[in-house]
Amino acid sequence: MRHVTTASSVSLLNAKDYEIDIPEGLSKQEQLDCFASQIADCTLCPLHTGRTQVVFGVGNPDADLMFIGEAPGRDEDQQGEPFVGRAGQLLTKIIEAMGFSRAEAYIANINKCRPPNNRAPTPDEMAKCMPFLEKQIEIIQPKVICLLGATAVRGLLQVKQGITKLRGTFMEWRGILVMPTFHPAYLLRNPAGKRDVWEDVQRVRDKVREMQEQE
Ligand code: SF4
Repeated sequence: MRHVTTASSVSLLNAKDYEIDIPEGLSKQEQLDCFASQIADCTLCPLHTGRTQVVFGVGNPDADLMFIGEAPGRDEDQQGEPFVGRAGQLLTKIIEAMGFSRAEAYIANINKCRPPNNRAPTPDEMAKCMPFLEKQIEIIQPKVICLLGATAVRGLLQVKQGITKLRGTFMEWRGILVMPTFHPAYLLRNPAGKRDVWEDVQRVRDKVREMQEQE
């Protein structure tokens, strides 16, 4: 584990033994690249033992729209990119149906390493990894975040209500609008949920466009 301590280090909440050094004056992409390289060998939580690689995130560093899921699955672990399996292909279709391209958005997960047997990350594993996601969001500064599934909602918003109750209504996280909706993997098992997701992401699309027009 690399432990960098300099005057410009950023101390990460819940990761007291881990500091990330991102020099000033870098572009957002450079900041993300620098950040990713520093957590590539992270061992803060037990998930590091079963991973092929840390799956940092992918997309536009200036994205107005960010999608956050749970954790990498097998395909993501092997390819090093979030949402590339069947659920990822469905997410790409959803993004395109909204009128955006996948490359326009930024996609990440609550946890950056694959849990064994694709189980959900534990609360402790989420708490260990959350500061990394928080820092990513801080760099990207999206206008709207779409949270995919119950684990992502619990991880970011720290709420106990289920996704069925929360979906469809904007919430707020540190001044950023957040829309919870079902995870694409859930939709593969329950296609009837697609109608709800379509309603949710249309609200997201309208909000992003509205905010872009106000700029
Ligand atoms: S899941 Fe996050 S906290 Fe855990 S080892 Fe991977 S990068 Fe580190």
